[in-house]
Amino acid sequence: MSQNKQAGLYVHVPFCLSKCDYCGFYSETPGAHSVTDYLAHLAQEIGERPEPAAHLFKTVFIGGGNPTCIGLANLQRLVETVSRVLPDQSQITEWTFESNPETLSAEIADYLATLPQIRLSMGIQRLNDGELAVLGRRASMDAVYRALDIAFARLNNIGGDFILGVPGCQSLADDLHKLVTRYPLAHVSAYFLTLEENTPMQKAVSQGLLADPADIEADELYEVRDALVAAGFEHYEISNHARSGRRCQHNLNYWYQGDYIGFGPAAVSSSNGIRLANPPDLGRWLAGEPATVEQLSATDRRNEHLMLRLRLLQEGLDLADFEQRFGTQPADFYAHLNRQTESGNLWREGDRIRLSDCGLRLADEVMASLFI
Ligand code: SF4
Repeated sequence: MSQNKQAGLYVHVPFCLSKCDYCGFYSETPGAHSVTDYLAHLAQEIGERPEPAAHLFKTVFIGGGNPTCIGLANLQRLVETVSRVLPDQSQITEWTFESNPETLSAEIADYLATLPQIRLSMGIQRLNDGELAVLGRRASMDAVYRALDIAFARLNNIGGDFILGVPGCQSLADDLHKLVTRYPLAHVSAYFLTLEENTPMQKAVSQGLLADPADIEADELYEVRDALVAAGFEHYEISNHARSGRRCQHNLNYWYQGDYIGFGPAAVSSSNGIRLANPPDLGRWLAGEPATVEQLSATDRRNEHLMLRLRLLQEGLDLADFEQRFGTQPADFYAHLNRQTESGNLWREGDRIRLSDCGLRLADEVMASLFI
């Protein structure tokens, strides 16, 4: 039996066909030359890094950017490269590919269907053309439906990513309920929009053309949650909903602070309390700029544990386990814990502390009150 530590493997594909108006991530358009260089350097990085030899990868996540925009032949090359550190693919419990709708072809979906435990995560974001236009998305609803038809004809574990709190837009809840009734998505992620520096959306907000997303009420979170629960989903993490048995295994490993090893520009790795972050720029990564190294302090690990566990709505924070890992806490912590419980933001059953319904909208504030 392998003695290697279990871990998640992440590969960042830093290419998008165009830039969405709200996006602060680093990405480039896929000129043939840069994709070739990217794949060659990825093979080199995966071959040279020491972590794969010490880990048994249980989940694989190919994220971006928009991985499918590099085309089928390049995706096949990428999978061959990644497979070199997956000697026994029967051990893989989940292999996720992200894709935007407009670049998911039948040929790519056919190929993805050959991978073990394949899961497709589709960046849909909103469900009508006007709202997609507010975000500067490339796909129209026609493209979304076309991609969903292709995917559902070939794959059985398909998730969708959505954005809440888009200025000037109605609640996503009704449209989303209709969508998951027509297309039985296994998983739905729904994150609130945040305004990123130097984006067209930030410019529009500063010119008064769009409302600031920070001022939008959190009601949509509850409306979407209720619509998805009515359709048979479990709200298992603040921003994530799954049908039975379809929680995202790769992300659960992050939330449980398991090891993960990332390759590609902007990819982050975490193992034994050390975090490596590759340069968030294709040119610098290609030039061999090393990852920055951060040794997490005991306080960092404690705060991160608290925050990640409270995000998991059913499991929450196990106080006895927390004290065993990080010691008896300062008196202030217990005082804040009592205050948050009394004000109804947290539920407490014995040692289990969970975010309450009304605590959901105040999650950041509640967590921050418990940090040291
Ligand atoms: S597809 Fe995703 S990564 Fe690419 S520009 Fe749009 S939001 Fe950013």
